[in-house]
Amino acid sequence: MDIAENPNKAAAPKQKDAIGEKTQKLFQDFLELFKSDGTGVPKYKDGARELIRPERNTLEVSFDDVEAFNQRLATTIQEEYYRVYPYVCAALKLYIQDIGEDIPANKDVYVSFADVNSKARVRELTANKVGTLIRITGQVVRTHPVHPELVKGTFICLDCQTAVKDVEQQFKYTQPSICRNPTCSNRSRFMLDISESHFVDFQKVRIQETQAELPRGSIPRSVEVVLRAEAVEVAQAGDKCDLQELSLLYRM
Ligand SMILES: [Zn+2]
Repeated sequence: MDIAENPNKAAAPKQKDAIGEKTQKLFQDFLELFKSDGTGVPKYKDGARELIRPERNTLEVSFDDVEAFNQRLATTIQEEYYRVYPYVCAALKLYIQDIGEDIPANKDVYVSFADVNSKARVRELTANKVGTLIRITGQVVRTHPVHPELVKGTFICLDCQTAVKDVEQQFKYTQPSICRNPTCSNRSRFMLDISESHFVDFQKVRIQETQAELPRGSIPRSVEVVLRAEAVEVAQAGDKCDLQELSLLYRM
């Protein structure tokens, strides 16, 4: 199986992160309490419920709504996007369970933000924007094939057959550091158990600044962007695109 490398996936929660947990709680409150004008029904309830369908996994949320609900929550998500994103997705999963839907324990769900106001030009993507939520526009100049990306791996120890579950993948293929079995000292011989591991669809596309954005006499700059989950296979070469949810972690 062809497993994509993992250049900028959101770091999943490992140890306790007070800001992450606070964000998770507030985002779950947002999903429960934010109502469309005049209806009295939580705006994202129906959308969240649809994610139990096997082919769905991503809820689109207007960032304007998050700002209207709680400006501090919005600011944290914007500035600490890379850090808190796993908690935002965890809040969505808890919310789906809270509204009584039976979602498989091993199914991952994602939030994608629309109406993000922090626009940047491709040539303005500098180091101080790394990890923040921003929006860029540009032209798609290249699309790569879609691969499954390993998110959390379950590994079988080849010495004692013990399963080591939910090994977070940290930017590259990451095996357990040591077998979970205390009487086994294996640190290197593991096999990935594909059926017990978590994957997400993953696609790289290259985005180039448009003629309109280009300073006179300049050569267009481009960036590689990673699309995941329901965002894959949406962009085609030649499309002008507006990417609203970018956790920036790349080399210029
Ligand atoms: Zn072992």
